[in-house]
Amino acid sequence: MIKSNNNPVKEIINEEVSLFSMWIRSVRRRAARPVSGVRSTGGDVRGSGGRGLAITPPMEEIPVDGPLIDEQSLTIEPAPPMLGLPPASIAGALLEFGITLASASQRVLMLDYDGTLAPFKVERMEATPYDGVREAVAQIMAMGDRVVIISGRLATEVATLINLDPMPEIWGCHGWERLVGGELSRLPLAPKQSERLFKAGYTLKNEGFQSRLEYKHGSLALHWRGTTEDEKSAILTAGLRAMEPASGVDMKMHRFDGGLELRATGRDKGVVVKEILSGLDPKTPVAYLGDDLTDEDAFRAVQSRGLGVLVRPEPRETAASVWLKPPEELIEFFGLWLKSTQRKS
Ligand SMILES: [Mg+2]
Repeated sequence: MIKSNNNPVKEIINEEVSLFSMWIRSVRRRAARPVSGVRSTGGDVRGSGGRGLAITPPMEEIPVDGPLIDEQSLTIEPAPPMLGLPPASIAGALLEFGITLASASQRVLMLDYDGTLAPFKVERMEATPYDGVREAVAQIMAMGDRVVIISGRLATEVATLINLDPMPEIWGCHGWERLVGGELSRLPLAPKQSERLFKAGYTLKNEGFQSRLEYKHGSLALHWRGTTEDEKSAILTAGLRAMEPASGVDMKMHRFDGGLELRATGRDKGVVVKEILSGLDPKTPVAYLGDDLTDEDAFRAVQSRGLGVLVRPEPRETAASVWLKPPEELIEFFGLWLKSTQRKS
């Protein structure tokens, strides 16, 4: 506990800071651990000032004529300081986040869905949230904080799975659609983008991969979760063959955890986060929690303004600031967030 000179307000804030710092210490030890096989250009995987992993975001786009991502070739650069602080330590930055969170009147919690709030399932509509997630999100919303879910899925699918009333704001299809207050809005695609998505989907359907396809507004995903290595290889080969001709300025191929996706350019999770941030008071504390390569755009977007949290059973190269294991530490994070809000009211 931090001494507070008998000031009740300071005592409350210091207690929050203490709670966060205790939790953060355990996260920090793992976040600062170098990932096997990662090459650092700075000679120190902890980066300047030992801020934890300082890593160039993973290469998400697949070279049109190159091999799949070679993670050994990733180059690591020092990450920029977080929260406007000098790069003293990741614990210091997180401590600052705890103080900001505890003393703020408005806060924004941005969340990916699959792999972050819910475990992966081969049957995608069976991916309901981890125990305790619904309750935690509902309570955070009830305390007045803004919760935004940003997913690659259709927004309506996320709404069905999270099943909350009231429903949080949901951005679906990597930011091509938004569901808020029961109203679904979609940004228009260029005719060429629609045509290229249709052609790639048609090709893959005719090759027998219909059950592996997910048709979305602005993208086409090809899933291999739950398959053998041989099956995965066949799906990947077919996916590259069908999607590569569609790739260019207005369409890109992306790898995600469990598949390959052809996406219209112009929207991604980072764009959504930037749009949300642009409408906020710069002092508003924000956090983004995600697990997948598609979340790296969001981690980069939130890096200078708030906290990026990688939620994943295992660490990997990331632009997030800390890593936590779901579901226990995720629920713990929500609990600390909620506790700060409750203390504030
Ligand atoms: Mg995810």
